[in-house]
Amino acid sequence: MKIFPVFLGMRGCPARCVYCDQDKISGAPDLDLKATIAQIQDFITRNAGLPKQIAFYGGSFTALDRDFREKLLGSVLEVCDSFTSFRISTHPLFVDHDILDWCAKWNIKTIELGIQDFNDEVLKQSCRGYTGKQAWEAAVRVKEKGFELGIQLMPGLPGWSPTSLAENHTRLLELKADLLRLYPLVVIRGTALEKIFHAGQYKPLDLDEAVTQCADYFPIAEQVRTRIIKLGIPSNIDAKEIVAGPWHPAFGELVKAELIARKVLSINPQEEAATLSREEIRMLKAHGGKALDKVQKWFEHNT
Ligand code: SF4
Repeated sequence: MKIFPVFLGMRGCPARCVYCDQDKISGAPDLDLKATIAQIQDFITRNAGLPKQIAFYGGSFTALDRDFREKLLGSVLEVCDSFTSFRISTHPLFVDHDILDWCAKWNIKTIELGIQDFNDEVLKQSCRGYTGKQAWEAAVRVKEKGFELGIQLMPGLPGWSPTSLAENHTRLLELKADLLRLYPLVVIRGTALEKIFHAGQYKPLDLDEAVTQCADYFPIAEQVRTRIIKLGIPSNIDAKEIVAGPWHPAFGELVKAELIARKVLSINPQEEAATLSREEIRMLKAHGGKALDKVQKWFEHNT
């Protein structure tokens, strides 16, 4: 599926979450509708006859003023072909039955919910404005109405614990979402979280912890055929805007290297040999070769 992303900044959000600055995260300027439509038209022409989506990211799409939404989608539809549908990212509090009927009418096929966590205490400390139950019910409604469901989770939110992590694993197994994005939390300059961090009241995950937590989601997602489509916040954020936390420009590759290392470590070296592709070996060696060190140390102790 070809996807053309449109970033809406924090438009429509009911409140600002403690950690969020979408403008810095996306690295995108304010929406210029005329220029965006021209780019979409070009995208449609280049991908004529192929299935594709125009994706609205970055804000809470269904919380936007209805006239604005309809004007936006109406303008985009004028340049779309019959192979094009819409994908939106939105807030769990703005997906009631009426809104979902509206989405279906406007050719929205995929809905990604910024759930971030299913644990009540974590949600409260992040000022998300809903409970785990509300998030769960919103996701179920989206699925039951026949949309492709994506969920976004943020490892390392304030108040997280091994218990909240286990709760997220369980919900993921039960929900059987189609898509999952994992955005380990980083502290962005100018956010409320930065103040909390400087006051010593928040300790971000370190890079290894974030890689481990994300890698742990893979076997769970595989069990229920949930596709992990993104690891780490977009790499086009200006690194100077990150005050602390597990940011790495190739975070996804670090998680994939960890998964390859785990695959090697799962064999019994007395009985079988590990077979790795060239690409897997490259990944183990990449970014300082930490994953390769892990494998080598393990072999030194176990063979
Ligand atoms: S995290 Fe999502 S809901 Fe919260 S302010 Fe940012 S874009 Fe809005």
